[in-house]
Amino acid sequence: MVHFINGEYINKDDVSVSIDDRGYYFGDGVYEVIKVYDGELYTAHEHLSRLFSSAEKIKIDISFTESELLQVAKELLTRNKISNGQVYMQVTRGVAPRQHNFPSQEVLPMLTAYALETKRPLDAIEKGVSVKSVIDVRWLLCDIKSLNLLGSVLAKQEAKEANCFEALLHRDGFVTEGSSTNIFGVKEGVVYTHPATNLVLNGITRQVVLRLCNELAIPCVEKEFTLEEAFNMDELFLTSTTSEIMPITKLDGQPIGNGQPGLQTKRLTEAFNLQIPVSKMK
Ligand code: PLP
Repeated sequence: MVHFINGEYINKDDVSVSIDDRGYYFGDGVYEVIKVYDGELYTAHEHLSRLFSSAEKIKIDISFTESELLQVAKELLTRNKISNGQVYMQVTRGVAPRQHNFPSQEVLPMLTAYALETKRPLDAIEKGVSVKSVIDVRWLLCDIKSLNLLGSVLAKQEAKEANCFEALLHRDGFVTEGSSTNIFGVKEGVVYTHPATNLVLNGITRQVVLRLCNELAIPCVEKEFTLEEAFNMDELFLTSTTSEIMPITKLDGQPIGNGQPGLQTKRLTEAFNLQIPVSKMK
């Protein structure tokens, strides 16, 4: 597998990164995951814009332009012969002896990226998944796609140990998002999701779903709902770049609605499938 390491394409086995990289010590960096369908990057501009905006929020100046990053992503697809999968990109604050405060200005950010061939989770998209409610103990800048993922890691592990696909996070009684997904509820035909505040990541798939709701004339409100309300939703679903639109059929072991993927969720999945660059893919 060929990786991109600060300007060079290098075979994975030959890659070496410094132990003094601030990503390693502090999780001091930001990242993106871009989906690839039929050899094409999906919503690449949205992901790259968010990478720049995340970096800006933590005062990292990415020394590449958006079109250069796009070229890197495309080159990784070609060199690794990826047709369906994902590109991972991360930028850290660079390499410097361990000290919390930022290093001097001569220390440049470190950009690394790779591409992977992966399968769409079609079975889970069709049948739905179970989730576990977990208290959201993450920091208050969840709008930044930061490498600091310990809160998400612990929540996902808790969900996994309960045989669930995802953790449904709640803060002060309100559902925020998943550990690596956004959460939506449907009640009496209206779609609800947490507003894009500092308490959630404004997912690119979340934004696609809001657009699709608009196109399908499905009423959609960016408004918090409580954990108690989540149990009583007609439908729940989660979204992310890799999970797409996935029905949630059980929350803490209790069926949501009739325990099957819901009607609006299915409509959104169909509309989603029509607008991804997929011709013959299953
Ligand atoms: N929320 C969190 C905390 C995430 O980490 C992610 C993706 O990794 C998402 C939501 C979904 O975002 P996207 O649709 O851009 O993949």
